[in-house]
This record gives sequence, structure tokens and C-alpha cells, in this order.
Amino acid sequence: MTRIRKGANYILRAIALITTVLLIITSDFSRILTGSIEVATYDYPTVKDFHTGTVNAIISRINETRIEETLRYLGKTQGRARYYNSKHGLKTALQVHDILKVFASRNPNLFSAEIVNHDWMQPSLIFKINSTTSNVHPDGIIVVGCHIDSINYSILPSSKPTGMDDNLSGVVTLLEAINVLTSAPITDGTGMLKNALEFHFYSGEELAAKGSHALIKNNYYNYEPVKHILAMLQQDMTGYSMNPTHEMGLVTDYASTTLNEFIKSIIDIFCGVGYKETRLDYAASDHVSSLFYGYPASYVLEAPIEDVNPFIHSNKDTIEKIDFNHVAEHVKLVCGFALELSLAQISPIFVPHQRDFVDFTILDFVLLMCLNETWRFVVFVFLFAFLSASFSIMVVEQKISVVERLRRSSSTEKLLIQMEEGKAHAT
Ligand SMILES: [Zn+2]
Repeated sequence: MTRIRKGANYILRAIALITTVLLIITSDFSRILTGSIEVATYDYPTVKDFHTGTVNAIISRINETRIEETLRYLGKTQGRARYYNSKHGLKTALQVHDILKVFASRNPNLFSAEIVNHDWMQPSLIFKINSTTSNVHPDGIIVVGCHIDSINYSILPSSKPTGMDDNLSGVVTLLEAINVLTSAPITDGTGMLKNALEFHFYSGEELAAKGSHALIKNNYYNYEPVKHILAMLQQDMTGYSMNPTHEMGLVTDYASTTLNEFIKSIIDIFCGVGYKETRLDYAASDHVSSLFYGYPASYVLEAPIEDVNPFIHSNKDTIEKIDFNHVAEHVKLVCGFALELSLAQISPIFVPHQRDFVDFTILDFVLLMCLNETWRFVVFVFLFAFLSASFSIMVVEQKISVVERLRRSSSTEKLLIQMEEGKAHAT
């Protein structure tokens, strides 16, 4: 190989290496590579601060029959799946928006129903309940989220609507909570909602939480100044409850520990079922998007991971498996969470031992980058493959060159070359 060719090869490898490193460090998800992300901590209210009478009055309006009717209505018209980039996905989002508009019309000064468009067909939706006073965080909000898309890996056509538990159950959980929260004025006696509430219906969760990442990344939906999420609760799968104890699953690994403590109190005080701590083991569902940007978030699902609905993402995720009593328990959780936090004066905690860290893995990075930054990921894989192949060729070439030198050398020189090689291997 000529020197010029060799030099050109080195330059090519250096460019590929620099580009690969740049692709990683400029990725939206590069902060995962530090291993853990710190999320903000706040002094959430404790049981002694709870507005039990106010919350119980709201909870008493929850109607299981209405929850079932809403799910049947949204399920009936969807087709095979509400895939995020499909006409069925779009149609369901618009139907949910129509329902939200009815709730917003109850008090247009306080409530609003908004559509957030993405680069794909199905939009995300936001229902807002504005605060009625300023607080220490005038732009601070409390968020409850769910996803409106679904996915079905079955090859065979389905005779029934699917994606009922994952995640129409979460959608109707939020709709019922909004319904009861907006059907009468929310006050704690002083008439003040200190923190604004937002209910997020995310698109594209099934592909590495595309909708929620886009929403939060843009510091909130492009059009508005930066907002601070003081607390976020995800509702993804709320209707399958076959375990005799009917305990909900409280996720502990991808969650804010401080917020989880508050949620435990809410379940204890306002829900008719208990909870069991559980682990996700990878960055699943939309609350991870909030955690990723340093906002405290938690996820409570229908059961501990070992007892969740085994039929999701298939033709068998149908309405017969939904326990509407269990969905109603999640509505109670959402109402308690939303009301207690919106009525509280929430301040940051600066005590070092109360700092919250959430651990992420390399697998999370690969999955998030692959599904959210697909072109970047393709180029990264191509360059990585090129560098690996190039490095292997370089090693083989060096070995061939040593063999060649040995073949041509005198016996003394051979000994020296072997010693030189031995030294190189030893180091
Ligand atoms: Zn889901």
C-alpha cells in the first residue's frame, strides 16, 4: 500500500470516528449516557395537609357506567388499531378532542382543549385547567398523562376493536377525571387553585414515547414559554385486574422517589385498592419523557408487572378483559393526585439527601435514539460498522506485514522482530 493511500485511509477513519462521536454527543438522548438523571424535588403535601372533604366530594361523582360507555364509543369506531401514523389514530384523537371541547365549554375562562400537531398523522391533545391564583411557580403545572395511540403485532385481521387496555383504559381514566373535575367549581373553601392542571393525551407512545418527547422537548408545544412540571403521573393500562388483591403497580425504577411517597398517601387515603411496588427495567411509557428533562414523574399501572394484561399489542386486547371498577379506582387516584397538588403551595426542596436520581441504561439510549432520531441512528450504525470493519482490516494488515518482514529477514533480524512483537503484545 502506498503512503498516500495509507494516509487517506487514516483521514477517512478519523473523520468517521469524529462524526460518530458527534452523532452521539449531539443526540437529544446523550444525557442518558451519564447513567443517571437528576429530577427536581418538591415538598408535596402530606396527609395532614390533604383536602379530604373536597376530594371525596369530587370522587363521589365518578360513574363506572359512564366510563364503560365512553370506552365502548371510542373503541367501536377505531378499526384495527389506533396506530400513531394512521387515519384511525387521527380519528380517535379528534373524537377525544370533541369530548374535551364539551368539558372546556363548561367554563371557557378556566378550561381549554388544545391540539398539538406532530410530524405524523395523530396529534397529541392537552386539556388545561388554569390556576385561579399566582403561586411561587407562576408557570408551574401539574400533569396527568396517557397515550392515545395503540399498536397490534397480530398478522391476522381482528374481528373486534383492540388496544382496549393499552391504552383506551388510560384515556377513559383521564376523561372521567376531567369530567368530574369540571362538572362543579373546584375549590378548597378559599376558592383558590394554586397550580394549573394539564391532562396530556400523547400520540406515538408505542414507538419510544415519540409524542411526549416531542412535546416536552419543545418546552412545551412550541408556542408557549418554558413551563415547569412540578409533578407528572402517567396512566397507561388501568383496566386489567385479575390478581385477587387488585393492587395497582407503583413503578419504582423509572420514577421520582419523592413523588412516589406522595402517591402512596393518595392511594391510601382515596382509593379502595392498595398498591405494590414494581419495576419496569427499561424506559417505558410517557412519564419517562418528563424524567428525561429533569421533571419529577411517576407511573401507576393496573397491577405489578408480573400481573399486568398479557394480551396487549395483540388481537386479544379486547373489552371483555376490562374491569371498570378497577378503572374507577384509577380515576380516584387521578382526582386525588390532581386536586391535592393543585390546591397545595409547592416549593422546591434543597435538602441534599432528598435529591432524586433516575438510572438509565445504554439499551434505553439505543431504543430512544433508534425510534426518535431514526436517520441519525442509521448513519451512526453505518459509521460504527465501517469503523469496526476498518479496525479489523488494520489489525490483519499489521499481522501480514510482520509475517512478510519475517519471511524476508535473516535469522538475527527474525529474532529481533519476534522480540519487538512480543513487547508490543505485552504492552
Ligand atoms: Zn401503553
